[in-house]
Amino acid sequence: MQDTLQLSISKTPNSRVENLDYHNIQFAREYSDHMLLADFKGGEWQNFRIEPYGNLSISPANPAIHYGQSIFEGLKAYKHEDGKISVFRPKANYDRMNVSAERMVMPHIPEEIFMDGLTELLKLDHKWVPDVEGTSLYIRPFMFATDEFIGVRPSQDFTFMIITTPVGAYYTNPVKVRVETHYTRAVKGGTGFAKTAGNYAASLYPAKLAQNDGYDQLIWTDGQNHELIEESGTMNIMFIINDALVTAPTGDTILDGITRNSVLALAKDWGYKVEERPLSVTELVESLKTGTLKEAFGVGTAATIAPIAVIANDGIDYTLDESGRVFSQKMLKELTDIRLGRSEDKFGWNYFV
Ligand SMILES: *Cc1c(COP(=O)(O)O)cnc(C)c1O
Repeated sequence: MQDTLQLSISKTPNSRVENLDYHNIQFAREYSDHMLLADFKGGEWQNFRIEPYGNLSISPANPAIHYGQSIFEGLKAYKHEDGKISVFRPKANYDRMNVSAERMVMPHIPEEIFMDGLTELLKLDHKWVPDVEGTSLYIRPFMFATDEFIGVRPSQDFTFMIITTPVGAYYTNPVKVRVETHYTRAVKGGTGFAKTAGNYAASLYPAKLAQNDGYDQLIWTDGQNHELIEESGTMNIMFIINDALVTAPTGDTILDGITRNSVLALAKDWGYKVEERPLSVTELVESLKTGTLKEAFGVGTAATIAPIAVIANDGIDYTLDESGRVFSQKMLKELTDIRLGRSEDKFGWNYFV
C-alpha cells in the first residue's frame, strides 16, 4: 500500500503559463499545465501521479457517463503579496468529499492523496495562481466510476483527479433571482447534501427557464411544499433581516457550504446576531414588503459573496437597495483579507503550500 501511493510526477515540456494574461482572467477559460490522478482498482488506491493536463481515455460503457456516479469539490488558492500561496480550508473540502463519496457508494479518499496531491500539484503549477485583486486559482477535485459495465450497480473501480484553472469574478454584477415554486433541487432522503453530478444536471432546466425570463438564478425552496427557502443556484443563501443574519440550517437537502460556515463563524466572532433557522417564502416576502429585509446574498466558493439585487416571487420583482449592502461588503472584505494574509487568520483557515 505504501509503495503504491508513491507520487510519480511527469512534467510537461510545454508550459502554457506564459500565455496567461493575469489582468484579463475570466472564469475558468484555461486549465493549468498539470493534473493529479489516482486510480482505485482491485480495492486499492494506486497509480498516484501528476501528468500534463490533457484528455482522458475512458470506456464508452463508463457508469459515470450513464448513471452519474461522480462527485466533485471546489476550492481556491490565493497568492499573497509576499508570493506565498495559500488554499482556503482544504481539509473541510476533503472531509466533505468523503461524505459525498459515502452517499454515492464510492471509496474513501485517503488524506495523503487529496492533501499531499493538492500540495504537490500547486507547487508544480504555482505560476498559475494569479495575484491580481479579485483573482485566484480554482481547484476542482473530482472522482468518478471507471468500470466497463453498463449494468446498474455501484462501480468497483474509480479515478480521483484534481485539475485547476485561474479565475476572476464569477458574477460581475449583483444578481437577480427568482423564488422557484415548481421545480425541486433536493428532497428529503435524496442527495442534496452531496456534491454529486446529478444534482447539477437536474438544476439546469429550471435555471434556464429563469434565465429566459431575465433572472440569473433561482432560490430553491423545499421539495414538499415549496415554502421554505433552501439555497440559491449552487450557493447557500443568507439574509439580513432587522439586525440578524438569517440562513437555513443544513440538512440532507442543503449543501453544507464552507463559505457559509466561514461567514457564520466570522459573524458570531463579530458579535453579530446569527439565526440558523427555517425561513419561509411568506416571511421573506413580508420582510421585502415592509423593508425589514436589508440584504440578501449568495455564499459559495466560486462567487464568495454574491449580492442579490432583485428577488422575484409570484411575478413580482422586489428590488433591494444597494446602499443596504453593509454586512455583505464588510464580510467579503474580511474574507478576502484573511485569504490574502492581510487580516489575522484566527481560525487557521489558510493552508500554505
Ligand atoms: C458547492 C456548493 C455550495 C457552496 O459550498 P462552498 O463550500 O461554500 O463552496 C452551496 N450549494 C451547493 C448546491 C453547492 O454545490
